[in-house]
Amino acid sequence: SPPKFTYKSCTSELNPPQINDTLGHRVGDLLLCEVANRLKICVRESDLVARFGGDEFVMLISDAATVNDVGQLAAKIVESVGQPCKLDGHDIEVRPSLGIALYGRDGQDIETLLKHADAAMYEAKAAGRGTFRFYDETLNRIAVLQSELALHLQRAIVDGELRLHFQPQAALDNFRVTGLEALVRWEHPEHGLIFPDNFLSLAEEDSLLILPLGYWVIDAACHQLATWKAQDVPLVPIYINVSTRQFRDANLVNRIFAALDKYSLPGELLGIEITENCITDDPDQAMAQMMALRARGVQVTIDDFKSGFLNFGLLSELHIRAIMIDRSLIGNIHNHHNDAIIVDSIITLAHKLGFRVLAEGVETREQVLHLKLAGCDEVQGYFFQRPAPANEIESMLHQGEFEK
Ligand code: C2E
Ligand code: CA
Ligand code: CA
Repeated sequence: SPPKFTYKSCTSELNPPQINDTLGHRVGDLLLCEVANRLKICVRESDLVARFGGDEFVMLISDAATVNDVGQLAAKIVESVGQPCKLDGHDIEVRPSLGIALYGRDGQDIETLLKHADAAMYEAKAAGRGTFRFYDETLNRIAVLQSELALHLQRAIVDGELRLHFQPQAALDNFRVTGLEALVRWEHPEHGLIFPDNFLSLAEEDSLLILPLGYWVIDAACHQLATWKAQDVPLVPIYINVSTRQFRDANLVNRIFAALDKYSLPGELLGIEITENCITDDPDQAMAQMMALRARGVQVTIDDFKSGFLNFGLLSELHIRAIMIDRSLIGNIHNHHNDAIIVDSIITLAHKLGFRVLAEGVETREQVLHLKLAGCDEVQGYFFQRPAPANEIESMLHQGEFEK
């Protein structure tokens, strides 16, 4: 079935008519070329960028995975086009307004999509230019809230508004708890508990935000382990999520070691979850980071694994603890025959290469049974336990196993 949002069409508007009048047509033309180039750099080969007449451009973006991705792309385009440029000796800065219509949601045909993208563009203009708007009002509110959140994230870290929740992972044969995944939440004074998808996706674009957040998480996880240790709660490793940006940070390993030292913890009690692109982006750097972590016992899990068969060769050269099968595949085990086949094949191949396999997002008994038959090693999901604050996880740690 086609993804819900396959196409985004957006128009952006600048002000070359004025530039034509004040600086001449030559500069106006140069500016249009400059903008076109910047737009092209923001998108993929397969996307379409076209000048729609005057100072309007239309872009057709295919295969945007989520509305969040579309919002992020829009923010990137506004940022990029809004950068000052020097043309023919003149310093020029434009403030583009961008309107977004989503195929399916906002229209089925090109005329409707263009009309709605245009209407959204006027909203963006009315909001003061240099910004973007979705045609859909709900999406707009979410996008605006998300950009506000990203702006205030730094303050939230300093003010101590972030929390860690923990979700247990357990062996599938005896349901013994093998580890806890740490998941960040923001206890916002006005908006209540906010989930990471609402503030991380934008923050990830900005290393000044994502790095301090990552350091906070490392420290908070170690602090929790030390607290439990002092209270004689039986310990299992905590696995923290490390974003691509953070994994590329040369200080990551030192930060992790410093936190372990600060709380006098062995490296075996801490692990990280990274996605495949952390490795494929720069295999040599990844190898070096992982060797350093391993020297201290810190384990690495590959998160969100779904279609990376081609990377198995590369992965097999690295020392990883396990592969985590993406929850989208697990959720479809019983609806999509192909996904069940993919899950089974990932497990078989991973085992041949010597990795453990963990299934995330397990929600039903049927999924548990399927995974058991397929030989999956570990499970995690709402079926067993939703992510929860430390105090709600403690009884499970004392017990040592899932109740189911
Ligand atoms: P993820 O690493 O794939 O984390 C698992 C997500 O699945 C969590 O969402 C968790 O609450 C949710 N989940 C667990 N069991 C089930 C289930 O049975 N069904 C369904 N439908 N969902 C389940 P959450 O907490 O909203 O986190 C979303 C994403 O945000 C995470 O995806 C991770 O990529 C990112 N994230 C969370 N905490 C951190 C962090 O501290 N640092 C970084 N860099 N990223 C984080
Ligand atoms: Ca994860
Ligand atoms: Ca995951």
